[in-house]
Amino acid sequence: MTGLSDSFNRPINYMRISVTDRCNLRCIYCMPEEGICLNDQKDMLSYEEIFTLARAAAATGITKVRITGGEPLVRLGIVSLVEMLSKINEIDDLSLTTNGLLLRRYATGLKNAGLKRVNVSLDTLRENKFKTITRGQGLEDVLKGIEAAKEAGLLPVKINVVVLRGINDDEILDFARKTLTSDWNVRFIEFMPFGSQQMDENRLVTVTEIRERLATFGPLIPVTGTQGGGPAKYYRFSGGKGSIGFISPVTEHFCFSCNRLRLTSTGMLRPCLLDEYEINLRDPLRRGVGLDELSGLIRDGAQCKPEGHRLAENIVPRDKFMTQVGG
Ligand code: SAM
Ligand code: SF4
Repeated sequence: MTGLSDSFNRPINYMRISVTDRCNLRCIYCMPEEGICLNDQKDMLSYEEIFTLARAAAATGITKVRITGGEPLVRLGIVSLVEMLSKINEIDDLSLTTNGLLLRRYATGLKNAGLKRVNVSLDTLRENKFKTITRGQGLEDVLKGIEAAKEAGLLPVKINVVVLRGINDDEILDFARKTLTSDWNVRFIEFMPFGSQQMDENRLVTVTEIRERLATFGPLIPVTGTQGGGPAKYYRFSGGKGSIGFISPVTEHFCFSCNRLRLTSTGMLRPCLLDEYEINLRDPLRRGVGLDELSGLIRDGAQCKPEGHRLAENIVPRDKFMTQVGG
């Protein structure tokens, strides 16, 4: 097997698989409050179909898979999907991104089924603000979910924080403090304009500004080693137990090193999150084409990856919300 690469010679070894467009929260930067059109069940891939496409992807050189959504833990039987994917030998890194609400219930089962690690999205440590950001509730459940994931050995647990000006940017230091006193691995993420809800762009707080605000705790020491091959850069404060990461899709885009493809819950292969182009894998799959042909379509998809996103030119995907693509 030779590895997969795109037309710009970037190695492609990572697939994010969305298993649902449903979610038990409605975060203000991700979904509109109401009026979102959900996929028909018949259009969504079954677990067997996801498994087949994952095998086809693994045959092209995909070795890392992240399960996402919508909220992946709201899809019934998610543990059985993890078990199926963990049996694909070529996939050596199987992870999941969740809002954490149901994590306490599932952590041990996910670990036993072969999941390696989880990322948990948590943008605030305050209950009233949790309601404002997620339009839901359950901060305590998320915090318990994080602890349950650690106890189950889904390590490292990374905490994703989307920073929004005027909403949670006053908590940057609170999250940073968590990395001093506990083993939290916090990743600050720039808010991306996405989908047609178009939250005010002035909400963006750049990674440069976040770093300036963190300077009050002293210098950030780069962390080398195995924090994952993704776009985040990792640091820690002197004496800190945890780490801090930065993901800057808007201001310092990392497209030059992008190694990923996305599969939506309806079986569309999306070569780039920030580009609307998709290849339909579901219909050929349902017509009964073989694994080799599906692998060929995935290779074609990799060739269609654009060189980079075009946010600077205000070219923003408007066809789908993040929940429909898979964040
Ligand atoms: N429901 C799960 C969760 O929240 O972790 C998985 C899906 S969610 C779409 C995946 C990630 O996308 C989350 O970390 C979320 O914060 C991030 N995300 C969603 N919309 C975003 C936006 N407009 N800008 C930056 N990150 C965003
Ligand atoms: Fe749901 Fe995750 Fe989007 Fe929040 S970020 S609405 S939890 S899919």
